[in-house]
Amino acid sequence: MTRSRYFVTGANRGIGLAFVKHLLSLPSTEVVVAGVRNPSKEHCAELHDMAASDAATRSKHRLHILELDVSNPYSVQACAETVSMITDGMDVLVNNAGMLIHRDTDTTNISDMVRTFETNTCGPLLVAQTLKPLLKKGRQPLVWNISSGLGSIGDNSSGGYLAYRVSKAGLNMVTKTLSLEWKDDGIAVVSVCPGYVKTDMSPDGNVAPEDTVRAQTSLWKDIDSVSEMNGKFFNRHGKLFEW
Ligand code: NDP
Repeated sequence: MTRSRYFVTGANRGIGLAFVKHLLSLPSTEVVVAGVRNPSKEHCAELHDMAASDAATRSKHRLHILELDVSNPYSVQACAETVSMITDGMDVLVNNAGMLIHRDTDTTNISDMVRTFETNTCGPLLVAQTLKPLLKKGRQPLVWNISSGLGSIGDNSSGGYLAYRVSKAGLNMVTKTLSLEWKDDGIAVVSVCPGYVKTDMSPDGNVAPEDTVRAQTSLWKDIDSVSEMNGKFFNRHGKLFEW
C-alpha cells in the first residue's frame, strides 16, 4: 500500500517545485503530475529539465507537466481528464498553489478578497472535488492542503494580511469539512503550515523550500483517513495549530 502517485499544484516555483524535486528523488515514485498555470518551457524551465533528465534514466515518463489554473473550473476539469489518462488512481494531492496580495487592511478591496479567496480557498476545494474519483482509487489517499499560520484565528495577534488570512481560514474549514465527509471514502484531508519559507512569496523566509518539503513528507507515513491527524491543522513538524 505504498503511496507512489502524486499531484502538486503551483509546481513551477517555490514550495511546489521543491515538492516535485523531492518526490522524483524517491525510487518508489511512479507518477508526479505538476499542475502549472503556464506549462511552456520558458515559464517552467526547471520542470522541463527535470522531466527530461528523469525520462533519460527510465523506461517510463514519471513527471507530467499539465496546465492548471486552480481558480478556473474548465482548466481544473481538463487537467483532471488528462490525469485520468495517465493513472487510474491518485495517492496524494498537494494543494499548494496560492497567492498573497500585499495591501493594508484599510485599503483591502473586494477584488483583493475575492481573487485571493478564489485561488487559496475555492481552488484547493475544486481540485480536490474534481480529483476525488481518482483519490478514491488511491493507496491511503491524502489531500495535503498547504495552509498558513496566518489562517489561524486563535494565533492572530498582529492583524495584517487580511485577504490572505481570510482565505486560509476558509481553506482550514474546507479541510475540516472534507475530512469528516470523505473519511468513509478512505480519503484523509489535512491543513499544513509550511513555515516561513524563502520563496517569491516570502523572500525573507528562514526555511529552505527543500527543508519544509522534507519535513512535511516525513509526516505522510503516519497519516491516513483513520489516523488521529486526519482533519487537523498542524505545522511542518506535525505540531497542532489552533484553528
Ligand atoms: P510562490 O509565490 O513562490 O508560488 C506560488 C505558486 O502558486 C506559483 O507556482 C504560482 O504560479 C501558483 N499559483 C498561483 N495562483 C495560481 C492559480 N490560480 N492556479 C495555479 N497555480 C497558481 O509561493 P510559495 O511557494 O511560497 O507558496 C506555496 C504555498 O505555500 C501557498 O499556498 C502559500 O500560501 C503557502 N505558504 C507559503 C509560506 C511562505 O513562507 N512562503 C508560508 C505559509 C504558507 P505562477 O508562477 O503561474 O504564478
